[in-house]
Amino acid sequence: MTIAGKIPFLDLVTLHAELEAELVSVFRSALKTCAFIGGPMLEEFERDFAALCEAEYCVGVGSGTDALRFALIAAGVKPGDTVITVPNTFIATTEAITQAGAAPDFVDIDERTYNMDGARLEEYLHTRCRRDPSTGQWLNQKTRRPVTAIVPVHLYGQPANMDRLQEIAEQHDLIVIEDACQAHGAEYFSQRENCWRRAGAMGRAGTFSFYPGKNLGACGEAGAVTTNDRELARRVRVVRVYHLYVIRVKNRDRVQEYLAQSDIGTQIHYPIPLHLQEAHADLGYAKGDFPIAERVATEILSLPIYPGLNADQQRRVVQTVLESPAILRLSAA
Ligand SMILES: *Cc1c(COP(=O)(O)O)cnc(C)c1O
Repeated sequence: MTIAGKIPFLDLVTLHAELEAELVSVFRSALKTCAFIGGPMLEEFERDFAALCEAEYCVGVGSGTDALRFALIAAGVKPGDTVITVPNTFIATTEAITQAGAAPDFVDIDERTYNMDGARLEEYLHTRCRRDPSTGQWLNQKTRRPVTAIVPVHLYGQPANMDRLQEIAEQHDLIVIEDACQAHGAEYFSQRENCWRRAGAMGRAGTFSFYPGKNLGACGEAGAVTTNDRELARRVRVVRVYHLYVIRVKNRDRVQEYLAQSDIGTQIHYPIPLHLQEAHADLGYAKGDFPIAERVATEILSLPIYPGLNADQQRRVVQTVLESPAILRLSAA
């Protein structure tokens, strides 16, 4: 007997209809706090997802692409580096490598697993690269770029042969970032460690996408970085959330003036604490009632931050702040 009817490639509508009641209740509680970015709900998810991946840390980000880009940057991949991945993956893998300022390069896959083949990686390193005697780094002979990281992709939910890849990476000082965007919860039996390991917890970091059609889909775009490296997790947290980039300096007005003379725009968010604003005069507060907020308001300075602020401009801002003759950093005070 055959069952009539169309079989769609993917059916998110039925899935979400089944989850509707649960999702609506979650949305209701989210609406109460409006902690849409960051906040306790994200932190709860980060804890749960880290536990699922058997990783110590998880940092939620905007997409799988962001997760991969941030993980590469946080792990120390530098603009101009080469990062090795495979040609059969979603193009976001190489987009993220490019966004991190690095250049992607490819090694072929193992036909049995569809994933990065350790033998090909070794061949690439030994025939197309040479070790720079002064830095110890592996340089691609043609481009002269240092090869600093590999991104094995656990394609279709099947983990790459991580034992072999990790071994080669260790021998060649390469950073391993797993693209686990299709492999939430996938398990790999490590012969080296004689135990099962979860995707995302084997390399320096693992990266996940919660794009709606993925193994674990969000109602929108989302992603996460998992890692056992505390410093890497901290760095990912630094590069993901800023809306405003605020520094604190004692002689704020003079630093601001110096930046203005150097053609660098700044603002203050916010110069007058609300209890001292006329609009709230009816609350009856006076100067001195909230001393910390008042002190901070005289020392904060928002530096330029927006998409498109390039690395040279960022460097110029940092340099100018540091060389400002008026600067008296709080830490030194
Ligand atoms: C989906 C996917 C990404 C990117 O994730 P987004 O959330 O869409 O940015 C990266 N790598 C692989 C292998 C993917 O399948």
